[in-house]
Amino acid sequence: MKLSSIERKIIENSIRDIKDFPKQGIVFKDITTLLNDKEAYGVLMNHLYQKYKDYNLNYIAGIDARGFIFGAALAQMLSIGFVPIRKKGKLPYTTISEKYSLEYGIDEVEVHIDAFSKIPHARVLLIDDLIATGGTANAAAKLIKQAGGECVEACFVLGLTFLDGIENLKNQTTVYSIIEVA
Ligand code: AMP
Repeated sequence: MKLSSIERKIIENSIRDIKDFPKQGIVFKDITTLLNDKEAYGVLMNHLYQKYKDYNLNYIAGIDARGFIFGAALAQMLSIGFVPIRKKGKLPYTTISEKYSLEYGIDEVEVHIDAFSKIPHARVLLIDDLIATGGTANAAAKLIKQAGGECVEACFVLGLTFLDGIENLKNQTTVYSIIEVA
């Protein structure tokens, strides 16, 4: 199911650009204004539901923290489970973790070891608000596999196509970004 040009505009117009946040030279894509706009949030969630309703998914895995908002809502619409992929040190039970490089230093994401264990070879959709360098999503897709799931696709509201993130992630799974930012 494709977005109409009107629906695309509604979503695009609801996202606010904040220049030089969190540091000089970055244009931060603020999705709080999308969430605040019931029409835009509705158009987006309906699009995701229509696109993924026939994928036979078992779980949505959302990336900390904005991936939780879209991922948990979609999991409810699809009547499937939701799995949080969190920054290091937040999950209380036994975890599997994966490090990834940032511009300066390293970061780490974790998933509960038994997150997908109820369903053998669970079909999992990975979700986040935005893919930039792809470091976070790559690490998250690896975690899904290590925890016994199959990462069927990775989905983003926004994809920054002037960076290599989307192309790199395609080595692991298929990638869908609703709005491409060139
Ligand atoms: P990356 O690992 O470089 O693909 O970064 C993706 C993560 O950082 C996502 O969880 C995004 O929420 C956040 N992020 C990176 N760049 C931006 C940006 N320009 N605007 C909003 N969020 C961003």
